[in-house]
Amino acid sequence: MGKKKRLGIMGGTFDPIHVGHLMTAEAVRDEYNLDKVIFIPAAVPPHKQQQSVTMAKHRYVMTVLATCSNPNFEVSDIEMNRPGPSYTIDTISQLITQYGKGTEFFFITGADAIQEIHTWDRIDELLELCHFIGASRQGCLPDVNQIKESFGELGKRKIHRLETPELEISSTDIRNRIKKGYSIKYIVPSSVEQYIYKEGLYKD
Ligand code: ATP
Ligand code: MG
Repeated sequence: MGKKKRLGIMGGTFDPIHVGHLMTAEAVRDEYNLDKVIFIPAAVPPHKQQQSVTMAKHRYVMTVLATCSNPNFEVSDIEMNRPGPSYTIDTISQLITQYGKGTEFFFITGADAIQEIHTWDRIDELLELCHFIGASRQGCLPDVNQIKESFGELGKRKIHRLETPELEISSTDIRNRIKKGYSIKYIVPSSVEQYIYKEGLYKD
């Protein structure tokens, strides 16, 4: 039997995608010897149903623009083609069917998202299906080890912590900068910057 394929999954709203997402995905790919990382923009982010989110088509195009120069990055529209809230458990189950059992899945999150995973739909079932990599800064809360322990044996096996040079960048901050007319150069790839201005996104 051949070596198992190792697939990273970077889920997010990507409204818009920024260098924090890209650097984190690349750092995890490197450290965990992943064959590739698939970026999956959520059509309907379950935790953002009370707020307005940019049309999925724009978020998908920006994700493609941002990742196309990296041969180890791919983008999937799997969540865009599914109605209702975009639950990760449904996505991973679908990917297992697609890739077969010979693939190991590593779901990549930032420190803020890993802190919230106990609220995710069918999280225990999800932990059985994939690893979680919580990217966090040295000495920075939340403590991924603590979150790991809260899931007992399953957490010990499936939740991992990786120290990355996390950048203080968020999509929220980028949207606010655009509203105020500030520059977003070097915070997003220039192709994404150009797309945002061309489509007039985040102006109001
Ligand atoms: P928003 O401010 O709209 O919530 P965001 O910047 O947090 O946007 P998301 O699309 O919500 O981006 O996040 C997708 C994933 O990327 C999450 O796991 C989040 O923790 C992670 N992430 C976001 N920003 C960073 C960053 N600067 N460094 C590392 N990980 C990040
Ligand atoms: Mg977020």
